[in-house]
Amino acid sequence: MSTLEQALKRSKKLFVDGIFFEQLRNLVQIVTDSKNSRCAEDLVVYYTRGLSNILTELGIQTEIVENPIKNSPPFLIGSRMESPEFKTILLYGHGDTVPLQEGQWNEGISPSDLKIIDDKIYGRGVADNKGQHLINLLALHSVLRTRTKLGFNLKIIFEMGEEIGSPGLCELCEAYKEYFISDVLIASDGPRVAIDVPTIFLGSRGALNFELEVNYRSGAHHSGNWGGVLSDPGIRLSNALSTIADKNGKILIDNWKPTSLSSSVRERLNLLPNTISDTLDIDENWGEPGLSSNEKLFGWNSFSILALKSGNIDVPVNAIQPSAKALCQLRFVVGTNANEVISSLRDHLDQQGFTDVKIITENAINFQASRTDLNNVWLQKVENILEKFYRDKIHVIPNLAGSLPNNCFTDILEIPTIWIPHSYKECSQHAPNEHLPINLLESSLLLMTNLYWNLGISDHKN
Ligand SMILES: [Zn+2]
Repeated sequence: MSTLEQALKRSKKLFVDGIFFEQLRNLVQIVTDSKNSRCAEDLVVYYTRGLSNILTELGIQTEIVENPIKNSPPFLIGSRMESPEFKTILLYGHGDTVPLQEGQWNEGISPSDLKIIDDKIYGRGVADNKGQHLINLLALHSVLRTRTKLGFNLKIIFEMGEEIGSPGLCELCEAYKEYFISDVLIASDGPRVAIDVPTIFLGSRGALNFELEVNYRSGAHHSGNWGGVLSDPGIRLSNALSTIADKNGKILIDNWKPTSLSSSVRERLNLLPNTISDTLDIDENWGEPGLSSNEKLFGWNSFSILALKSGNIDVPVNAIQPSAKALCQLRFVVGTNANEVISSLRDHLDQQGFTDVKIITENAINFQASRTDLNNVWLQKVENILEKFYRDKIHVIPNLAGSLPNNCFTDILEIPTIWIPHSYKECSQHAPNEHLPINLLESSLLLMTNLYWNLGISDHKN
């Protein structure tokens, strides 16, 4: 009789025997920087040399599918059908990473190799997202090996373009809607709320980047000859920005505020720890007044100026600059009218007398916001299983504060989405020295082994 204990033991053994590290090393050694890859073939190697063995062992029939968007990286899709009577779980992961940032990591660590220092394991992609999907695949493997079946059907989607905005993912979901029919998405990305407490999030905030530009004339003009009679783009732009958010970061455009901070969302957020981070103090007075920090982060929208430019601050000259530019970003939760963000901004700037401030949206990163309902039955089911295993309350957040292409699953495939992150905020994701603590990897593998095991026994359709 096969038991959960045997499956957990099998997962534990992957760490003791070093197999987990070997597998992760193999994935990290395949450089998959989607921003700088020369061609799709460079990235497809991740499917063929990286994932194919484990997917074959899981009995998943896979297929590499051209990206519906030209010159964007292909997808890997797959299916393992055990029984039409069983529920179907969709698994997603992204094999691409941000640039390696070679030379900026601590001495002795190469981003394209695995390095264990003390109790942490370093390498590009360890946290985002190679290590996270490897955990899920190996957990499935332990369950399958132990009881020779999963007890549910499995569909998979892997992409190599998440770090460049997931081009074609929604189009793929549209084109393969039938193929991907599933009951739920269970996937892993992003950080936990607290390192030692399992977290579930149900979606993500959206993100919209755009530029504001004031461009009056060609060339700078000597401020001694022209100061006082030529309008200054830097002053105009900073005044325009000050009408979008006040001096404490509160958003001033009514149409940019969400309508979704309901009492049930608030209740969930109030159960979370107040400390956002152990290493960085937050600014209590920043953002929307009257909201808790968790409400600001997970239940509200935030406006940021990512970059600001007029003249050359390293080599300043006494001159009225010809132009000024700001790269701005709105992060937003569901319940924000995303399609009207830019038109509302235009109206607002016009009303405030800033018709000269141009909004540029070409090539802008644009993620939709999405969120599975807090009353969804899959949340209850997964939360129960995780809490039983963890023997305490876990953290549930309505959505990640960051952005993911989750709307492809909620809006196009129309399935609930349960994200179980295996990382933590201090993992240096997107920065040099990306890493995860070995403890966290190991406990996440056991958490997922237990989850898949239980989903496979309690979940058969009647
Ligand atoms: Zn990332």
